[in-house]
Amino acid sequence: METILIDWRNRKERDADAELIRSIVERGGLIVFPTETVFGIGGNAFSDEACRRIFKAKGRPPDNPLIVHVSSYEMAGKVAEIPARIIPALKKMWPGPLTVIMRNRGASTVATAGLDTVAVRMPAGPDAAAMIEFAGVPVAAPSANMATRPSITRNEDAVSQFMGRTDAILLGEEPEYGIESTVIDVSGDFPVIMRPGAYTIDDISSAFGHAEYFSGYMEKPSTPGMKYRHYSPSKPLYLIRDEERFINMVSSITGNFVPICSDRIGRSLEMDYISLGNDSDMYNVAKRLFAAMNEFDNSSYSEAYIHGFPENGIGYSIMNRIKKASVEI
Ligand code: AMP
Ligand code: MG
Repeated sequence: METILIDWRNRKERDADAELIRSIVERGGLIVFPTETVFGIGGNAFSDEACRRIFKAKGRPPDNPLIVHVSSYEMAGKVAEIPARIIPALKKMWPGPLTVIMRNRGASTVATAGLDTVAVRMPAGPDAAAMIEFAGVPVAAPSANMATRPSITRNEDAVSQFMGRTDAILLGEEPEYGIESTVIDVSGDFPVIMRPGAYTIDDISSAFGHAEYFSGYMEKPSTPGMKYRHYSPSKPLYLIRDEERFINMVSSITGNFVPICSDRIGRSLEMDYISLGNDSDMYNVAKRLFAAMNEFDNSSYSEAYIHGFPENGIGYSIMNRIKKASVEI
């Protein structure tokens, strides 16, 4: 398949591609594009055919529904029934990394995996917002990675993984957060966090008054996607939670491995490492996490070791992704 590269790293040319984007989406084509969380692979959310192609391109199991992206409340209203009581809180969070599960109104049942609910998000990434606006329809878009593989947060990874496998790749501003959106269920008195993400529980609580994590993780998956192995490099990644143990382990073992660690820890090691950035601000780590996993995947190292982080604030979401990607030792 021939893939068109649409380069928005040069801002001035954005409007010139409006018609191209509209026509690709109209004929059921797929576009890989950056959002403020991670890159997505999107198509017309009203079209069964386009949504089927998304599942196929990713190798995603058909029972794991897609998030539908919108660029306005008017568009959101065509996709879902937005409960009036959540609108004031929603206005504090949208556009932004918040996905809300609501009753489906118009999204393809292929996108919703046959559920009567639909997951909706209004992304803040300026390229994503413009792309959806140009498409003129809601855009169903899961993260642009092969199912079970790490999400993509850099233009170069989007090109190397999707060239020849999608109709177009939009190169633009790389994700500000680097970690997926927070998914909430709003059917009860307060939001329940079904998937932790770029907005922390405190962010959600301050907009909605109160929020809780889904408490049934152990018994059943909170959201269909949670039951699948996710985000993992294709080679073994081992988690050693405790920093000191991590340093001792990687300093004493031999073999073709690489540590994946914060610069603070990396500086104390006498070997090359893949950087998770400066962890005095954990948002730096969120931004580097998937890039680091993809870097490891593309390297000649046969295994990697990663350390743990405190599980509060954005650290909770970071550790959720690390735990899914690794085997703890
Ligand atoms: P991804 O598209 O890879 O970022 O994953 C989207 C996440 O949203 C997955 O965990 C899905 O299971 C979840 N999701 C999407 N639609 C729904 C829905 N209608 N109900 C519950 N979870 C959903
Ligand atoms: Mg994903």
